[in-house]
Amino acid sequence: MPGLKIDVHNHVGRWLSDDGDWLTTAEDVLATMDAAGIATLVNLDGRWGSELTDNLARYDAAHPGRFLTFCQADWSLLDTPGALTAQLSESAAAGARGLKIWKDLGLSVRDQSGRLVAPDDPRVVELCRAAGDLGLPVLIHTADPVAFFEPLDETNERIDELTAVPEWWFGGPDHPTFAALLAALHRLVGACPATTFIGAHVGCQAEDLDAVGSALQRLPNWHVDTGGRLAEIGRRPAAFRRLVETFPDRILFGSDCYPPKLSEYDRWWRFLETADQDFSYVDDGDVPLQGRWRISGCDLPATLLPALYRHNAQRVLGCGAAYGLTTFG
Ligand SMILES: [Zn+2]
Repeated sequence: MPGLKIDVHNHVGRWLSDDGDWLTTAEDVLATMDAAGIATLVNLDGRWGSELTDNLARYDAAHPGRFLTFCQADWSLLDTPGALTAQLSESAAAGARGLKIWKDLGLSVRDQSGRLVAPDDPRVVELCRAAGDLGLPVLIHTADPVAFFEPLDETNERIDELTAVPEWWFGGPDHPTFAALLAALHRLVGACPATTFIGAHVGCQAEDLDAVGSALQRLPNWHVDTGGRLAEIGRRPAAFRRLVETFPDRILFGSDCYPPKLSEYDRWWRFLETADQDFSYVDDGDVPLQGRWRISGCDLPATLLPALYRHNAQRVLGCGAAYGLTTFG
């Protein structure tokens, strides 16, 4: 048995909910984690200030070893010199275990001059270097699926999803191109060699695993999580397997399924551990909004699973036996 797992990409806080309330209860999350063999779950929803301390109290402190909460940066501080790094130090002192940077950086965050702030803006570089000094990994999501930047017509393969959520389309003149955003992201990572980065959603370019491989090759502090991209890598199982075989120490399991759900975890194990062909990436009866295709398993060798599921995350997050893996039943 491959053993216990760490889910490095999840959301169990409040800021993504429709009504501002918690997305779920800690007890429900723990029941799902226990059933799925998840020893520790990274909660990316810590934000800052009292929202951070509320998340830390509800999860990390109440259930030691089972949750690691990341903070975020309050971009309204961008124009005040030193404010972002001071806030990050406070968040680290409060107990944040990493910094999450969301896709609004690059797509919608503007400074006081009204300019869009790119991922490699000097103020962001300074913040990410400070994260490295504090020993905090940075989990960053830049851009979005390539299709969200392509013409919004019947040729767009994610037209179902973009029809359901039109604000996810970034193909107009108001937004940088996908390529420009990814280039800025990689420059940021290169500018902070002492900071450990995790690229959300397979390095933010799950559609092009060769490009992910070349970024991993160029940038030794770059890692990627699998969160939210089962559909995408599920239609390239051989390429994903090659990526894991080539970079076994750089790829971390993350689900990004929230609230956590056992059937979704089971589908991840089916994709990663079996050679099953042609199955759905959503539950029976659900519409596969990310595209009308099916996926196949990548049948990873059992020897590669412990690193993907656990060891890489333990190293990157700085959590070892003290963080639940020896005490979890
Ligand atoms: Zn996410």
